[in-house]
Amino acid sequence: KASRLTREEIVELRKKHISPSCTMFFKHDPLVVVRASKQFLYTEDGTEYLDCINNVAHVGHCHPKVVAAVSQQFALQCTNTRYLHPNMALCAQRIAKTMPESLSVVFFVNSGSEANDLALRLARHHTKNKDVIILDHAYHGTTISTTSISPHKFHHLKNYKSPKWVHVAPQPDAFRGMYRSPQYSDEKLGGLYAEEVAKIARKIKNEGRGVSLFLAESQQSCAGQVFLPTGFLKPVFEAVRAAGGLCLADEVQTGFGRVGNHFWAFEEQQVVPDFVTIGKCIGDGFPVAALVTTPQIARAFTEAGIEYFNTYGGNATACAAVLAVMDVLEEGKLQQHAKEVGEYFLCRLKELQKKHVAIGDVRGKGLFLGVEMVSDRDKRIPDKKTAIEVITEMCAVHKIILSVEGPEDNVIKIKPPMCFSKQDADLVVDKMDVSLAKIMSSRNVPAVKDEGMTK
Ligand code: PMP
Repeated sequence: KASRLTREEIVELRKKHISPSCTMFFKHDPLVVVRASKQFLYTEDGTEYLDCINNVAHVGHCHPKVVAAVSQQFALQCTNTRYLHPNMALCAQRIAKTMPESLSVVFFVNSGSEANDLALRLARHHTKNKDVIILDHAYHGTTISTTSISPHKFHHLKNYKSPKWVHVAPQPDAFRGMYRSPQYSDEKLGGLYAEEVAKIARKIKNEGRGVSLFLAESQQSCAGQVFLPTGFLKPVFEAVRAAGGLCLADEVQTGFGRVGNHFWAFEEQQVVPDFVTIGKCIGDGFPVAALVTTPQIARAFTEAGIEYFNTYGGNATACAAVLAVMDVLEEGKLQQHAKEVGEYFLCRLKELQKKHVAIGDVRGKGLFLGVEMVSDRDKRIPDKKTAIEVITEMCAVHKIILSVEGPEDNVIKIKPPMCFSKQDADLVVDKMDVSLAKIMSSRNVPAVKDEGMTK
């Protein structure tokens, strides 16, 4: 039994048998989480923590309907996907129904990394090109191919040299990027940043090659909760396609209604990708992911004589999890809920920003938000120290789990399970207010402006 071990004993065992590269949250004071339900985590002594960051437990931790669907199917059959079973076919049909019509073929895999890796492979077969364009600070996975296209993971490595086929375009970050607001309007930013990608695509073509794949999250997560400017993807897709390439929307963090206005975040940009990769949230914690593409692109494998088999991908239990998640999403109208709670949360965070000069920027769509900490608002100097102190205080004192993201580790990320409520949002904002005031007063910094807050 896990509970036989003390926290210290677990840490010791980890030190001995788990690689030090597998890091922990709050490593100086780690939590032993023994139970989870809805948007809450529980430690052994029964303490309840509000989880503001787990977008894998999409419809709530251990949702009873998902648990029942998985348990029932696992007790019946979980075997080779070369046998016929309705779940895989039904699940593919249900996912395809949420996509633009052209995206009707689903490859089931086990992780977002695998989905992106498979897209790289399919794109090479379909286009016969190798060059890939990505956005700076992006994260797309943990395999050898996907770490190569994840500046988030390779930027800080000493002596790292990107393979020649990888091209990194500037991050379209309106707050911290090479073009910024309010100097440029959102639409203008979209065009300026798109031109940066187009330049790379044209260069690849002019050098006598072609683009294989352009890959981007529909709004960037690990890169710092950054939203693509309006009208960015349309000209990017045109330029990439003109250079012979395909376009992928990585929706591993952003899909399944999280952004509120749309089921998929790419819909905000009014584009139709050639690939969509999905993972994390679709199984509510059960490992399942998928690559969705067009029949024409999927044929690239069959035409090359490639049989695609994946031992666990799309097994009846994994697909039962996805189908149950989709039922719960629909029945609970969770996309609409994410929109309403997200708008309220954003409003309250913007009020908090007025009060605390340490908050440089607040941004969000649905239940996907970021709070960017700065040491100088005008110069937008990133403030990792304050960001870390806030999340540490929020966890230790207020039992609220947050985390930091972005190239400077100064963006507090918020992407909770979709059942998160307005009361939860109030609690987070009120306690962040208290924490920031405490941190700043301990440094004797007059950070709090005399401005009232409303709910
Ligand atoms: N793409 C994105 C945008 C991600 O955030 C992640 C995981 N954080 C992945 C791909 C990789 O997914 P997985 O960890 O399931 O391999």
